[in-house]
Amino acid sequence: MWQKVKRVTLACTPTPLMQLDSLSSELGGPSIWIKRDDLTGLATGGNKARKLEYLVADALDQGTTTLITTGAAQSNHARQTAAAAARYGLRCTLVLGGMAPRRRNGNLLLDDLLGAHLRWAGDRDPYALMQEVAAEERAAGRAPYIIPAGGSNAIGAVGYVRAAEELAHQMRDRNLRIDHIVLPVGSAGTQAGLVAGARAYNLGARILGISVGGEAEALRATIVNLAMLTVAYLGLRFEIDPGHVQVNDAYIGAGYGVLGNGEREAIRLLARTEGLLLDPVYTGRAMAGLIDLIARGTFSKRETVLFWHTGGTAGLYAYAEQLMSHRV
Ligand SMILES: *Cc1c(COP(=O)(O)O)cnc(C)c1O
Repeated sequence: MWQKVKRVTLACTPTPLMQLDSLSSELGGPSIWIKRDDLTGLATGGNKARKLEYLVADALDQGTTTLITTGAAQSNHARQTAAAAARYGLRCTLVLGGMAPRRRNGNLLLDDLLGAHLRWAGDRDPYALMQEVAAEERAAGRAPYIIPAGGSNAIGAVGYVRAAEELAHQMRDRNLRIDHIVLPVGSAGTQAGLVAGARAYNLGARILGISVGGEAEALRATIVNLAMLTVAYLGLRFEIDPGHVQVNDAYIGAGYGVLGNGEREAIRLLARTEGLLLDPVYTGRAMAGLIDLIARGTFSKRETVLFWHTGGTAGLYAYAEQLMSHRV
């Protein structure tokens, strides 16, 4: 299957699979493992590196000169796209939501260091603005390639089919069974790829996405649809059972990117029990959800839960004030 799919190398893989003994005993619940996609190594790391391996390969195949994508001001996807563009000698324009903030730190600092051009969408539709930027690029004789938010289309999601294969090898090597995989869900490409990959490689784990902003039913529909498109793109012949796609939207709090007590406590707990950094927007929220679900007795002590660390730690610095203010 993989011979037919074009790929460039951007991520340091396989990423480590580690057991979180201290956290498991602290929480007194199931055995907790972590998949360290925060260590993919593309201008820090994160899940978008795996998607970009396929997106950038497709872009280069089409003779692209300029990558264009969109996200929030602190988008990890935008930062990793800027890094991928730099690595392959491409121009990069990032269409970011809202207005330019006064402080340029976290991912925004890295976007700048990586040489990306920034365009602030204000209250305009970022997709319309991306089309405008693409037209400007064409008028200047260049060849633009638009990557959707989060790199979440069938090409990007292939990165997480591949990641499921990688995990299957790691599980076999260690004779490890995983009952549940828990991860944050934003634009849904990561979960869609994992759902397709779990089916292709018989992972045997239930996959639970913790929403960072969207409503569960809408996200489930997006994930099912994108998983099916990804399966078709790879020329595979199996169905996606919508019953296997689980999303929990109980931890959204005040909305996307708004730090609450759950995230704050989860970030501190992981830092202090495991010396491990989570991020304020995605993994902090998903871990807050996992901690709550364990407290509610959702998983038995004999079960094994894998937390998929999708990265985002560059965003920590942009939340310094909110993170420090409740210091204990
Ligand atoms: C983008 C992102 C996610 C969400 O992945 P999707 O494929 O968009 O659902 C999770 N964690 C981090 C750190 C991210 O940057």
